Amino acid sequence: MLKLNRRIAAIKPSATLAADARATEMKLAGIDVISLAAGEPDFDTPVHIKEAAHAAMSAGQTKYTPVGGTAALKQAIQQKLKRDNHLDYELNEIIASAGAKQAEANLINALFDEGDEVLIPTPAWVSFAAMVSLAGAEPKFVPCAESNGFMLEPDALRRAITPRTRGIMLNSPSNPTGAVYGAEQLTAIAKVLVGTEIWVMSDDVYEHVVYNGLPQHIFNLEPRLKDHGIVFNSLSKTYAMTGWRIGFAAGPRGAIAAANRLQSQNSGNPNSVTQAAAIEALTGPQEVLRPMVEAFHQRRDLVVERVRRIRGFKLPNVPQGAFYVFPNVSELLGTSFNGKKIIDGDSLASFLLDEAHVSVVGGNDFGAADHVRLSYATSVENLNKAFDRIEQAVAKLKK
Ligand code: GLU
Repeated sequence: MLKLNRRIAAIKPSATLAADARATEMKLAGIDVISLAAGEPDFDTPVHIKEAAHAAMSAGQTKYTPVGGTAALKQAIQQKLKRDNHLDYELNEIIASAGAKQAEANLINALFDEGDEVLIPTPAWVSFAAMVSLAGAEPKFVPCAESNGFMLEPDALRRAITPRTRGIMLNSPSNPTGAVYGAEQLTAIAKVLVGTEIWVMSDDVYEHVVYNGLPQHIFNLEPRLKDHGIVFNSLSKTYAMTGWRIGFAAGPRGAIAAANRLQSQNSGNPNSVTQAAAIEALTGPQEVLRPMVEAFHQRRDLVVERVRRIRGFKLPNVPQGAFYVFPNVSELLGTSFNGKKIIDGDSLASFLLDEAHVSVVGGNDFGAADHVRLSYATSVENLNKAFDRIEQAVAKLKK
């Protein structure tokens, strides 16, 4: 038996990346799979961003940079946080990493320890809990009712806090539900957290993929939270740059310095050429976002309509952001076809992959086992084809 580190042995692969990898494998084997699994824009990275990368490469920007990113990149991030979020940060309160994912892992490791509890309102993105466990701390799930739009209620938050609570992971717009918190809801949550020593970890990676105007930032609504808060963001979704791996965090100097030390030992600077591309993305024309968000908006409308037509799929809330729908499939639990029994979202996802050749992610690792997540970051043609196939496959399921 291979003896592994106890924490590593206990974690599973990321369910989102695993679902995407399975779809890719099937495609390579010649099977016509439609993937609604990956949370990845299908658009190409805008040309001016790619050109900035070419220019950086030609100019020899191919060497190490400071661990947390070049001064020019940090300035671009500083400007972005001011422009989009009305938040002020000094350069030494900012760190760039290989994706928001690395930034989050850094800060979670830097701030939380054994015996600490970190609150995760669920449904939540699959990697939050794994990252907290890997740091040795304890993820503590706070279920959010579908009837409340899957949003955290201040009373539920109050009840979940114990003397051991050291952090909370917030994510609006939400992956996987598409819920977007309004200013009133954020203010109510902020009221519970202000004056505590709970680190407020705000994952804002979908902030631009919204259909009712830019949301307000919780640290803007309650500036005192900034003293024990970290913002995380990424260029992956906003600028269609998933493969480039660039994201960042901003927060109090001591926390960012600790993240920097960790990153210096674990990996070093994010890719130097990517950093140059990121500067262009953040400071160049922002109009490039509009057509992408408009396309997501149209697809959202189509997908909501199509999902609601599928037998056994319930979608009471229209998602207001991100590019996911997270329908409730509890009516299908207990049905089966050809010996394949649907017992939860994960088994329905496997069934759809086998029978419909459509890849979706089961809700289990998002903390909502009677749901599945479908990404609509793919063409309208693919979406229509995928929904035709899902409808046909689900029709085969019998009690
Ligand atoms: N965050 C995206 C998703 O949920 C990308 C994959 C990942 O890192 O989880 O699909």
